[in-house]
Amino acid sequence: MTPKQRRLLARILAGGALFLLAQLAPLAGLSRAALFLVPYALAGWDVLYRAVRNIRSGEIFDENFLMAVATIGAFALGEYAEAVAVMLFYQVGELFQGYAVGRSRRSIAALMDIRPDYANVERGDGLEQVDPEQVGVGDVIVVKPGERVPLDGTVLEGASTLDTSALTGESLPRDVACGDEIISGCVNLSGALRVRVTHPFGETTVARILDLVENASSRKARAENFITKFARYYTPAVVGGAAALFVLPSLAFGNWTEWFRRALTFLVISCPCALVISVPLSFFGGIGGASKRGILVKGSNYLETLAEAGIVVFDKTGTLTRGSFDVTAIHPNEVPPEDLLEMAALAELLSDHPISRSLKAACRRDLDRGRVRDVTEIAGEGVQARVDGRLISAGNGKLMDRVGAPWHDCHRTGTIVHVAADGRYMGHVVISDTVKPDAQQAVRTLKEAGVRKTVMLTGDSARVGEAVGTQLGLDEVRAQLLPAQKLEQIERLLGERKGREKLVFVGDGINDAPALSRADIGIAMGAMGSAAAIEAADIVLMDDQPSKVATAIRIARRTLRIVRQNIVFALGVKAVVLLLGAMGLANMWAAVFADVGVSVIAILNAMRALRTRNL
Ligand code: ADP
Ligand code: MG
Repeated sequence: MTPKQRRLLARILAGGALFLLAQLAPLAGLSRAALFLVPYALAGWDVLYRAVRNIRSGEIFDENFLMAVATIGAFALGEYAEAVAVMLFYQVGELFQGYAVGRSRRSIAALMDIRPDYANVERGDGLEQVDPEQVGVGDVIVVKPGERVPLDGTVLEGASTLDTSALTGESLPRDVACGDEIISGCVNLSGALRVRVTHPFGETTVARILDLVENASSRKARAENFITKFARYYTPAVVGGAAALFVLPSLAFGNWTEWFRRALTFLVISCPCALVISVPLSFFGGIGGASKRGILVKGSNYLETLAEAGIVVFDKTGTLTRGSFDVTAIHPNEVPPEDLLEMAALAELLSDHPISRSLKAACRRDLDRGRVRDVTEIAGEGVQARVDGRLISAGNGKLMDRVGAPWHDCHRTGTIVHVAADGRYMGHVVISDTVKPDAQQAVRTLKEAGVRKTVMLTGDSARVGEAVGTQLGLDEVRAQLLPAQKLEQIERLLGERKGREKLVFVGDGINDAPALSRADIGIAMGAMGSAAAIEAADIVLMDDQPSKVATAIRIARRTLRIVRQNIVFALGVKAVVLLLGAMGLANMWAAVFADVGVSVIAILNAMRALRTRNL
């Protein structure tokens, strides 16, 4: 409990005790009223204060107003005990809400734990502990065992294992050694590391994630907007109804105190607290629960849309496959194999594409940046660069056609990287990728989760595409697509949606940002590396397991189910009790019990959205 909640609890307990004493006191008339006024003020002063403040700012009709009018009215009728009890119960409900909101927020904030407190920077001969924001690119920091990695960087010295669980929700530690890239937010488990910083703090993975999480609650779901609008019309309507309930029958039948009492009861019952709090709380819980599993949802509207996912489109490389290729064959035309590989690796020197990274890793020679100039990357085709003065093109058949190199296909299966020098065909490197261990399960669980169609789009050759598609059991595969054509495919599939069905695109963020933003929902994975992915996507998977897509959909569906249950339950009970109140069958006690009871049940139901362990 927070100090504020503890204070509220103390007020409720003290108010309750004084209330009992007042009940027992043998007083009558005004002195009795004064006696009850003490616990009333103790329990309800903040409600009264907020009601007055809201009236001054013009936003009259909220639950504070309802409570203030109803309880002051009860006092006026001489129902002191009811007035105090109503206020006490109301505050119990408030306390409960505060606690529930706090718990959801904390589970989202558990992710906030990734915020590093300090960095040990090498300055002169010693280490200096500074705020991570004050560390510049190129500075060398030391991360000791047990410390959190404060900034993204490259390991210069040392070897260790990193606990990435705060970022990914996965407990498997990752080994790192000299030369590896490490990411802020992980915890260093075993050895000390010297790290050269590669990004300023504001651009680190941690900073981006924190930003994302902090803004998550500002993007509202339709259901939430509905509730806000609903409350805006509902409360004045209820106040009007209460006024009518008092005035009209009193004029017709007389007995105005009885009708006044019924009108007040009606007001207390009508407070839509359960609804107003439980719907956002459910979404909040869903987002919190998802983040525990390494799934970052940028807003509750995305959760709402994801729940209706009917078509899921995957990118291939880096999404369904590992994106770390092994060189399986080198078929040069005129130069030794190592030269061909070096040529390709040099041309790829500045590219971040998975193919490029793999070629560079396979090349055992030192790659001298000074030999490379004029690099252009042609998305979906390959790269071109001047290496030692010659124009080297490395990529697929399309790129070879572009430079007019007479290429030929290879009998080997795998992704073929053709190489041309000044338009002359130099041969090709065959590389092959493996599907991720959970890719097959990912496709199967999507079907189980009720997704109608799974599709894979790839820029790779039809042969590789078909092979992967069959292995994984995808419904449709489209190959040899340029990024623009991937977008066309997305448009076509958007046209195939039935009813309220939504289209989800899942990519690794490398040259598929347009597709990520065109789809109804863009999911980027492996966000630990790619900043672009975090920007373009609506949902970010911290690790790179495609099976988390189905998990995300299940979390979204369950959250929406809970939201719907709460709306129906709260409105249903409310309607019944309102009717009973108007007919004089429910008194103020019953009204408050109903309201607090419905709130508490709805809140407990909303809290279920937080639990995602077995989804
Ligand atoms: P995917 O759709 O499988 O993610 P991309 O659209 O990133 O693939 O790339 C499509 C194809 O373009 C690759 O299969 C490859 O043939 C070629 N290509 C793209 N970038 C490069 C690169 N940097 N080096 C070599 N080939 C590349
Ligand atoms: Mg790709």
